[in-house]
Amino acid sequence: TPATSKPEYDLSRSHEAFLRACKVIPGGVNSPARAFGAVGGEPPFMARAEGAYLYDIDGHQYIDYIGSWGPMIFGHAHPTVRHAVVEALDHGSSFGAPTTREVDIAEAVVAAVPSIEKVRFVSSGTEATMSAIRVARGVTGRNKIVKMTGHYHGHVDSLLVQAGSAATTLGFPNSPGVTPGAIEDTILCPFNDVSAVAAAFERFPEQVAAVILEPVAGNMGLVPPRPGYLEQIRELTRKHGVMLVFDEVMTGFRLAFGGAQERFAIDPDMTALGKIIGGGLPAAAYGAKSAVMDFVSPAGPIYQAGTLSGNPLAMAAGLATVGMLRESPPYERLEAISARLEDGLRRAASDAKVPHVVQRVGSMLTLFFNQGPVHDYEDAKRSDTALFGRFFWEMLARGVYLPCSQFEAAFVSAAHTDADIDHTVDAARDALRAIVG
Ligand code: PLP
Repeated sequence: TPATSKPEYDLSRSHEAFLRACKVIPGGVNSPARAFGAVGGEPPFMARAEGAYLYDIDGHQYIDYIGSWGPMIFGHAHPTVRHAVVEALDHGSSFGAPTTREVDIAEAVVAAVPSIEKVRFVSSGTEATMSAIRVARGVTGRNKIVKMTGHYHGHVDSLLVQAGSAATTLGFPNSPGVTPGAIEDTILCPFNDVSAVAAAFERFPEQVAAVILEPVAGNMGLVPPRPGYLEQIRELTRKHGVMLVFDEVMTGFRLAFGGAQERFAIDPDMTALGKIIGGGLPAAAYGAKSAVMDFVSPAGPIYQAGTLSGNPLAMAAGLATVGMLRESPPYERLEAISARLEDGLRRAASDAKVPHVVQRVGSMLTLFFNQGPVHDYEDAKRSDTALFGRFFWEMLARGVYLPCSQFEAAFVSAAHTDADIDHTVDAARDALRAIVG
């Protein structure tokens, strides 16, 4: 573990667990970011979580700004969600047959998300985007996909593409095991650049099935769309008969009840949802107008299935979460406390005289060690990741659990109090003082 200015911050039990884990799990973790590769050192192992707090097996308490990478909008172990899951469990954990709970949550999604008339549940965000792309290709009869550099849509082969040097590139696979064939129909464009997408449509006339993007990018740090960008992409895709797929796995139910599409008043052709919709259990979904979704099997010819799709426990957790979001919307409060955090971090970084920009939309934010503004992946890459790594560890030692990479967004939950935010800002001041003197 990298040295912090707090020598009493001891992770020896986690270290033992990590050594055990590394013997039987690749890299010791079941999803790469958790191994802290981007900040160095070894991760604390978690014992439990409640509200805004995580507790590790070494006895530390943390104010959590990951929230399981997005799902925990009401904080951890919320009694309503817990109760719903326990009740569902008492009736059996999986049937592989339809249940009314699936209809309840589908109705809730259709009522919440403006562009969705029908929705299919799957078990992960990866499945949701993968299926959405299959549907876009099947419906349009076209093969190519436009994807934004720095946007993440899960580990779908065709979307694991790294940019070449020029804009509008045909990229190369960014993982061994992804064949050149799997990505030959993927075109990369920089985010926030309408002309790059227009150029792609010109270069491949009537060949592009879909543009897929995160309407507010959260996987290269938090990067908002420039004013007018989403509207122009909507107009351009419509003009060219290209389906616009919003990946709202992060933003859905978070930036507004109806997601980024409600917040920015855009009508995408398809939407991928995940994270919050499962309330902390494995569930995700994709949806669109009925005319599109009726292409999906068994209503139509495009195949997609899942043994645990619509799993009763996941549906119960999701339904409880979505129900609370509808009945007592936390969005105003999330806006207020997130703004408080944004202001506090900005002041702390200014006072420490480190180059920085804080970017925020709703309850998602990133402190970039970068002059900013950050509009795309090239901008994001100019950040001082070494400084971020030191800052991350100084914050962890002070009981603040930030995302373990400069290129991830932090999530604020409704369980965070003003006192949590103020403690976080004080920790940031202290941490930056320890780093820059
Ligand atoms: N899409 C976005 C925008 C995401 O942030 C993620 C995960 O972080 C995914 C898709 C993939 O979701 P999952 O990890 O559930 O497969």
